Amino acid sequence: MATMDAPAPGARPLLNRRLAEFGTTIFAEMSALAVRTGSINLGQGFPDTDGPDEIREAAVKALRDGRGNQYPPGSGVPELRTAVADHQERFHGLRLDPDTEVLVTTGATEAIAAALLALVEPGDEVIALEPYYDSYAACVAMAGGRRVPVTLRPRDGAYHLDLDELRDAITDRTRLILLNTPHNPTGTVLTRAELAAIAALAVEHDLLVVSDEVYEHLVFDGEHIPIATFPGMRERTVTIGSAGKSFSFTGWKVGWVTAAPELVSAVRSAKQYLTYVSAGPFQYAVAAALRLPTAYFDTLREEHRTKRDLLSAGLADAGFGVYRPAGTYFVTTDIRPLGETDGHAFCRALPERAGVVAIPNAVFYDHREQGAPFVRFAFCKRDEVLREAVTRLQGLRGAR
Ligand code: PMP
Ligand code: GLN
Repeated sequence: MATMDAPAPGARPLLNRRLAEFGTTIFAEMSALAVRTGSINLGQGFPDTDGPDEIREAAVKALRDGRGNQYPPGSGVPELRTAVADHQERFHGLRLDPDTEVLVTTGATEAIAAALLALVEPGDEVIALEPYYDSYAACVAMAGGRRVPVTLRPRDGAYHLDLDELRDAITDRTRLILLNTPHNPTGTVLTRAELAAIAALAVEHDLLVVSDEVYEHLVFDGEHIPIATFPGMRERTVTIGSAGKSFSFTGWKVGWVTAAPELVSAVRSAKQYLTYVSAGPFQYAVAAALRLPTAYFDTLREEHRTKRDLLSAGLADAGFGVYRPAGTYFVTTDIRPLGETDGHAFCRALPERAGVVAIPNAVFYDHREQGAPFVRFAFCKRDEVLREAVTRLQGLRGAR
């Protein structure tokens, strides 16, 4: 069988022009490399322990009780929509109508795709903070939009947004800003002042905002504030969450969109032709998860804080430059102190050199050179796994 990039008979490439630049995702490539080499996989961000037993049991029970085994409603089961609305009120003070302002999606990935496919006309410009999560570029392309990256710059051990650059990136063709806070891969958490400034620009230029907040419960320094809570933003923001991140069930692929009724209705129009509905029994389990006591979310955060500190310190000891993240479960490192400059080559060689897999940040950039010497490690792993990875990485310094 021909591979995706091979020319079709008749010489026309199989993969269409919109997607030609997007081959296999870096996560699939690097996870396969980890399996092939038996390396510790700190590349793709998925926990190596499942979420709470009681939530897993809730999924089993739903399956056994025949809840959600046939097509659930297109917007999601009412139990989950109500739980999402209650969660947004409990943690963020946002009051939502579960019937008109919540949409259940197949992971945040589908939420992003549906939002962009629904809201972007061909030729519209979409501003995204670079480095950006890889599906953003592909989804903007599928929607026929033009991505306009605004680069977060590393300075003083953290990545920063330059608000002047953001302002300058806005044109009369800009349709929306695709925001991500806490930010993958840099770990930056946008501050209240930054969010207020972005919100003011969105209002001034009448832009929509799609805000990917899947790491909302993984904030160690500062606070997570949904941009939808700022003046004038409620009616122009699509907020996205995910059970994969907040409850450590990435394989269930349950996500959600919250927004004003007109926006939810638009996103639903696209979603219904992508998946029609999302897997039923898991929705009941995630409804139970969203109702877990606040102590669950505190523990999740504190456990990840410990992991962040463990991995950040270990990477610094091993000779990496470390951007200690304020949020998410990723740490971005600079490999130049190790005498390296090409993150891609470094990540390809790392399994051989140290038995560890990481992700080259360059793949998250349009301006690849900006990301070249940076490499991302995930710390959503058991402490002993992180310790072993750190031990293995100690050998890198002086090994060249
Ligand atoms: N957005 C960001 C920023 C992510 O890191 C991820 C990856 N986990 C997703 C969206 C996708 O989430 P899901 O697995 O729920 O589709
Ligand atoms: N979001 C996860 C990451 O950034 C993995 C997502 C994926 O495999 N598509 O690593």
